[in-house]
Amino acid sequence: MTGTKAAVDDAEQGAALAYFTNAQRGGLLAGAGPVFWVVACGAALIFAIVAGTSVIISDFRDRELHKSGRELENTVQLLARHFDRQFEDFESIEKSLAAEIERRVKSPEEFRRVLSTEEAHLLLRNKLSESAADFAGVNLFDADGAFINSSERWPVPSLNLSDRNYFKAFKNGSNRSPVLLELVESRVSQGRTVVVARKISGSNGQFLGMITRSIPPGNFEAFFSSVVPPYGAIVLLHQDGTLLARYPHIESAIGKNFAGTSQFASRVSADGLATMQLISPVDGQERLASVRTLTHYPLSVVATTTVSAALSDWREETRSLVWATGLVAAIICLMLFFITRYLKQQHQRLDVAVNNMAQALLFFDKSERLVICNKRYLQMFGLSSEIVKPGCKLRDLIQHRKNIGSLFGDVDEHCESIREASRTQQRTQNTVNTPDGRWMQNVTQPLADGGWVSTIEDVTEQRRSEERTVRLALYDTLTELPNRAFFLKHLRSELDRCSENNKLAVLFLDTDEFKTVNDSLGHPIGDELLKSMARSLQTCLGTGEFVARIGGDEFAVVAAGIQNREEVIALVDRIYGAIRRPHECSNHQLTIDSSIGIALAPTDGASCDEILQNADLAMYEAKSSGRRTYRFFEAGMEKKAKERRLLEMDLRAAITDGQIEIYYQPIVDLHRNEIVGCEALARWKHPERGFVSPADFIPIAEQSGLIDPLGDYVLRKACREAMIWPEHIKLAVNVSPVQFKGGAFALKVVSALADSGLAARRLELEITEAVLIGDDEAALKVLHELRSIGVRVALDDFGTGYSSLSYLQRFPFDKIKIDRSFINGLTGQGGSSGIVRAVVAMASAHNMATTAEGVETEEQRDMLRQLQCEQMQGFLFSPAKTASEIRRMFSAGEAGDIVAASRERP
Ligand code: C2E
Ligand code: CA
Ligand code: CA
Repeated sequence: MTGTKAAVDDAEQGAALAYFTNAQRGGLLAGAGPVFWVVACGAALIFAIVAGTSVIISDFRDRELHKSGRELENTVQLLARHFDRQFEDFESIEKSLAAEIERRVKSPEEFRRVLSTEEAHLLLRNKLSESAADFAGVNLFDADGAFINSSERWPVPSLNLSDRNYFKAFKNGSNRSPVLLELVESRVSQGRTVVVARKISGSNGQFLGMITRSIPPGNFEAFFSSVVPPYGAIVLLHQDGTLLARYPHIESAIGKNFAGTSQFASRVSADGLATMQLISPVDGQERLASVRTLTHYPLSVVATTTVSAALSDWREETRSLVWATGLVAAIICLMLFFITRYLKQQHQRLDVAVNNMAQALLFFDKSERLVICNKRYLQMFGLSSEIVKPGCKLRDLIQHRKNIGSLFGDVDEHCESIREASRTQQRTQNTVNTPDGRWMQNVTQPLADGGWVSTIEDVTEQRRSEERTVRLALYDTLTELPNRAFFLKHLRSELDRCSENNKLAVLFLDTDEFKTVNDSLGHPIGDELLKSMARSLQTCLGTGEFVARIGGDEFAVVAAGIQNREEVIALVDRIYGAIRRPHECSNHQLTIDSSIGIALAPTDGASCDEILQNADLAMYEAKSSGRRTYRFFEAGMEKKAKERRLLEMDLRAAITDGQIEIYYQPIVDLHRNEIVGCEALARWKHPERGFVSPADFIPIAEQSGLIDPLGDYVLRKACREAMIWPEHIKLAVNVSPVQFKGGAFALKVVSALADSGLAARRLELEITEAVLIGDDEAALKVLHELRSIGVRVALDDFGTGYSSLSYLQRFPFDKIKIDRSFINGLTGQGGSSGIVRAVVAMASAHNMATTAEGVETEEQRDMLRQLQCEQMQGFLFSPAKTASEIRRMFSAGEAGDIVAASRERP
């Protein structure tokens, strides 16, 4: 069970999540979600760092190469200057010798002759020894290329250099330069050597011979070795491209011509300097090279270093830089990972929160398109997820709601009201009801960018409970009429508005005998009756008339705009017309009546309290006037009420003090002219007021509860009295309906009979139909019990009140007492003889006796005899008499006298 529920919940949540995520994809993320942006920014940052690093590396590389190039340039500059000077120094001996020779010698023959001597040799040797001769000595060759002298040796070997290029150039004059350099295979010493040859010309320009000195490449190389950069090489090149010397030494390269492979010549600038990167034709490595041509000699110095050597520092630094960059990128990636994970978590949490909230949530953008909406919204109104999804336009959404019937009113008006709320710049809240009777509270929060967020909450329950609370405070839960509090509130507000020409009538309705209904039929039926009365009252009232239930069986009506009493009487008639109709209450047909007290404002009082008190007094007056009627408030009522209160106090004392006496009125058999019984009637002789009629004090006793001790007193005393009378004389005792309420009435009767010793069959209880109103089962039960022990039951005052024959069917009365009002009207025009006849006939048919009350004339008596009425009672025979008078009457003869007297009168 729980498992299934959990699964359903999970599924729900999953669906909700999916919907929200879709919303995100379609809405927020379609634009570019935060995760996307974070990743994009992170990638861009990494890219920028990498690009920047690459630029720095490349720039740094260029600078390193440039720096190395500058170093190489410096080196070749230095070397060039060095060699220029050295060659000059070196050549200065040749130059001075040549100048001297040229001064003295005029022809080639003379040259050969003069200079091929030992003296010349010695001269040369001296000359050289003067200078710091660190290189080889000088050699002299004649115009035919023959070796004629040397500073180094004597005699010189026979040797001819006429095949040497420089010689040929001097001889044929193809090169005008007086000095030529050439790397040759030495014929004097071993190995190759660089020859520096100077042409010796006669005064007429005639070629006389040449003077040479040679420098072995090793000399250069030894010098180069001291200045060569690490991983570098220094090369001495002849202008024609011949490599003269190189350090580090590569034997195979010496003497090789690189004119075709080196690009130096073309690049050398005006100052004789050039730097470039190239693939070395010597060793095939990529090299950075600087070349500098010598100023005075056809030579160039080339200093190179491998590019890899030039970039060794760069490589070191690049490595560190790449590491650093990689580290930064890794840190960024890690940060991105954590940020995106955090965002996703936040997103999921938000997702769960949004889809599990009790309210519906809607998020619209500036262009009135739905961005987010949670599942609750769809569920709340039963909307289609096909239509209500991110991107959906406000109007389409509202139209959809209208189409499925979850919205009142016009679609465009509704849209406009939402727009207005979104434009107000502040939170707005309103509660609307839906066609299915629910109440929805909408809260709209405008957003800074022009969109808005709406939440919708179903507040139906809340609203209903508020309404319930209000109802509880102002309405009566049973009848749903306004309650006392509401009545007072209404009355106060109406009182403020009333005037002499625009009166206010306040009617107090007290339900007659309601307690009887309640006690006999039970509270549920009593409640039904009150509800039915409330309905009747409500339906009979018009506009300006207000009804409330202000107490158990009390209602009040406020009628505004009253001009005169007639209007109020018309209202009272309407009210009676409504409430006197039988009420159908759980299979019981109940009739009920009401005593109504009326007070008019402002005539009978201006304040609420005053008017209420006066209406209450008027109602009390109506009750005292026999109920079932209404009374307007009159000035004397207050006094009367006061008196009644005093009377009640006096009555209480009277019962205990024995001020109540019992008189007995004889009941006579109409045919036999004999007294058959006496009715006990209470008499109160008030010490100050004198005689008080039971018609006045019995109602007070009934209302104050004094009827119980009073009735008990009358019953006991009368029973004892009747024991003195002749055996056949019956005793009739009046019993008030209120006495049946106690529940112990039958016991009290039995006790009175037992105490007095009176036979039950001699006791006749007179009850009115009021005892049986409301189908009083309890009262009937009591009556049946009493009847079963032989007590007789008479229906008193028949003809007044309802006079419903149905009461006769409900209980097998022993006697019917026809009310005085019928007897009064017996003899006049349109008299009541027909009714009396009918009652008598019906009574005899049911084996009931009939007694006519209040017979005052013989005419009435004769008529009653004719109508077959059995018994009579009235002033014609005797009014009620004291106990002693009755006793005297029953003592021998007197009784007969009375009857005789009545018989005597014609
Ligand atoms: P009731 O039961 O109808 O009593 C008869 C009343 O009619 C008595 O008035 C009696 O004096 C009067 N009466 C008798 N004959 C005539 C006549 O020819 N003409 C006229 N006009 N009246 C006549 P009473 O004694 O004033 O009693 C009034 C009512 O008070 C009684 O009416 C009865 O309902 C009630 N009552 C009197 N005593 C008691 C009592 O002890 N207990 C209870 N519960 N009610 C009582
Ligand atoms: Ca009576
Ligand atoms: Ca009566």
